[in-house]
Amino acid sequence: MKYISTRGQTEPMAFSDVLLMGLAPDGGLMLPEQYPQIDAAKLNEWRNLSYQALAYEIMSLFATDIASDDLKDIVNRTYTVEAFGNEDIVPVRELGNGIHILGLSNGPTLAFKDIAMQFLGNAFEYVLKQKGERITIIGATSGDTGSAAEYALRGKENVEVFMLSPQGKMSEFQRAQMYSLTDKNIHNIAIDGMFDDCQDIVKALQEDADFKAKYSLGTVNSINWGRILAQIVYYFKAYFATTSTNEQKVSFCVPSGNFGNICAGHIAREMGLPVERLIVATNENDVLNEFFNGGSYQPRPADKTYVTSSPSMDISKASNFERFIYLLLGKDTQKVNELFQGVKSGKGFELAELSQTINERFGFAAGKSTHANRLATIKAVYEATGDLIDPHTADGVKVAKELQKNGEIIVCAETALPAKFAETMQEAIGEVAIPRPAHTQDIESLPQHVIKLDNQASLVADEIVKHVEPIA
Ligand SMILES: *Cc1c(COP(=O)(O)O)cnc(C)c1O
Repeated sequence: MKYISTRGQTEPMAFSDVLLMGLAPDGGLMLPEQYPQIDAAKLNEWRNLSYQALAYEIMSLFATDIASDDLKDIVNRTYTVEAFGNEDIVPVRELGNGIHILGLSNGPTLAFKDIAMQFLGNAFEYVLKQKGERITIIGATSGDTGSAAEYALRGKENVEVFMLSPQGKMSEFQRAQMYSLTDKNIHNIAIDGMFDDCQDIVKALQEDADFKAKYSLGTVNSINWGRILAQIVYYFKAYFATTSTNEQKVSFCVPSGNFGNICAGHIAREMGLPVERLIVATNENDVLNEFFNGGSYQPRPADKTYVTSSPSMDISKASNFERFIYLLLGKDTQKVNELFQGVKSGKGFELAELSQTINERFGFAAGKSTHANRLATIKAVYEATGDLIDPHTADGVKVAKELQKNGEIIVCAETALPAKFAETMQEAIGEVAIPRPAHTQDIESLPQHVIKLDNQASLVADEIVKHVEPIA
């Protein structure tokens, strides 16, 4: 299988090359030339597979330049009971009335990003070894992404990680999660500034071509194809868990920000998984809700993005969106180029004439949720079932309940555990004990490893130079 760019100006590439990439050289996103097609017979074959076996079957269709046994080994080392806390890896539970919860957040950092990141960590290490290369990952985080990346890359050979976070802006739990790591290849840097300042520093270093080449800079942000691939697997797994024959269809409702999670659902549907609807749930930052209800995409700058109680969805420019638009526009790379050049310069676009196609041919629907909605949903679910769902998952459940059709089975993605958002949980339901997985029990009391730097790219560069051998 070869990979091409949504902008059409990049030579076709193999999986292992795409795996280490961020944006394509032409500014687009990489994706397969075609999505493989899964027929009913294949679905039957896959129906009773373990998570690991299913992951191998699906990934082997895409990672065609990795030897089968090696891919199997990577998958088996990634999806362990030890890392994900249970045999099913992504257990499904029913809340009632056809609403199910897909437990994606039982990995090391208690958020769904672990499913993809843990795979990426092992896949990176493997591909780097094959190529005889090393990589310096630099990233900016306001919480979830950084910790998922650090827990995925800790101790990996030929990988150094420099993670920038805004000093004093993360929760105590998030700080403890990241800063308590003791691995030599993990470098936490707290910047005297905001999240956007951290992101600007990362951008400045990435744009310095000499520095980037000399220190082999890379990223693991949400546009990475390997992350999308790993996420396709759980849509199949959840479908099998909630149906008994391929005649049945289910819908998915996904708390969304960068459109990475639900993009994987969209690809699973394109591959032939019997998915009725893909429901995008947003919080107050509702750019995607607007698009899927009318066809107008109007991304907003950071200063027009609200800070909410589902912070991982506080995103007003969905970085994976271009992968869907490419298909929606019938692979018209010139049009994609034009639209997203516009987005880069701060413009939106209108595709109202395609609204029906978006909803019917591609199955998309959307809704939004507010702080009050999420508190009410957490409370209602808790009172009715005793189940605790986190604020992001609550956004999804709110929208799923609102949009559910008669008899429709909706699987809601649980994108984080409540333990990460204790304050909002308390606001919703009062002093209820929020369970914490054993490995996070006392993390706030562990020693923390972080260096503090002023808001200046050159200081971060110095730190990299101190720890990484330049490439000759
Ligand atoms: C990252 C994240 C999301 C948003 O996922 P996207 O792939 O960016 O749409 C939702 N909830 C949580 C808890 C997250 O960490």
